[in-house]
Amino acid sequence: MYYGFDVGGTKIEFGAFNEKLERVATERVPTPGEDYQALLTTLAGLVAKYDEQFGVKGLVGLGIPGMESVEDNSLMTSNVPAAKGKFLRKDLEALIDRPLKIANDANCFALSEAWDEEHQGKESVLGLILGTGFGGGIVVNGHVVSGGSHVAGELGHTRMPLDAWFYLSNSMEGKEAPLFSCGCDKKGCIDNYLSGRGFEQLYHHYYDEKLKAINIIQNYQQNEPKAVEHVNRFMDFLAICLGNIFTAFDPDVVVLGGGLSNFEAIYEEMPKRIPPHLLSVGKVPKIIKAKHGDSGGVRGAAFLNIS
Ligand SMILES: [Zn+2]
Repeated sequence: MYYGFDVGGTKIEFGAFNEKLERVATERVPTPGEDYQALLTTLAGLVAKYDEQFGVKGLVGLGIPGMESVEDNSLMTSNVPAAKGKFLRKDLEALIDRPLKIANDANCFALSEAWDEEHQGKESVLGLILGTGFGGGIVVNGHVVSGGSHVAGELGHTRMPLDAWFYLSNSMEGKEAPLFSCGCDKKGCIDNYLSGRGFEQLYHHYYDEKLKAINIIQNYQQNEPKAVEHVNRFMDFLAICLGNIFTAFDPDVVVLGGGLSNFEAIYEEMPKRIPPHLLSVGKVPKIIKAKHGDSGGVRGAAFLNIS
């Protein structure tokens, strides 16, 4: 039995999966605000409860927005204050009396999709989340590649490519490309441009009007000129950035998640717009929408223990 936890800022989702990777239990509980002991007790309590229910000692994986420091294994996370700077893996392992695997939630998302029947056997799957932020996870041969310091796949914090900067600057008379600040204290991270939030910020920059992404997309679908121009600009910008990312990883399959992944035009436009940004021998990988949606995090966390 595989247990997965998706620990978010407001809720913890638990899922149990059998040997066929079918989900056999689900539970959602609120994330204890800043109380670390309560967080440990909650997680350990769920493990004990389902061990008893299934009569097994399940293997446990946990996904969280953050990563472990390679120096001392303390957890770096800003979205889950109770776990910030704590030795969550070591402390929880002591309570549940078994090893625990921890991974970044974007890596869990990618792993969940990579273990979908359709993609099993594919050498590399790149998961990209176009949500509140822009993040990614790389899975090679069914395993997460987290890198030497656990930051592999943190694509949102790579800076905008130079040709994207020129493209944005030349896209409207009198408007230079915006240089957005990032939560990581740097400027120009693509997290602030390619996410749903970035989609809105770019619209605001060019048209001095604050609209929600969903409304911009609705306007686009009704052929409203500003929205059409904006979407056209965004698609080219996305194509330039994805061209760079695909040249670095050359994945077999790319799976998109997050709110903006529901924008169907992305799947029509990317295969047309990316090729000029690749090497001549490079091919645009298959780009598809994530199948498992909100449950991807917990599935991927559970599958951290499949080897
Ligand atoms: Zn950043």
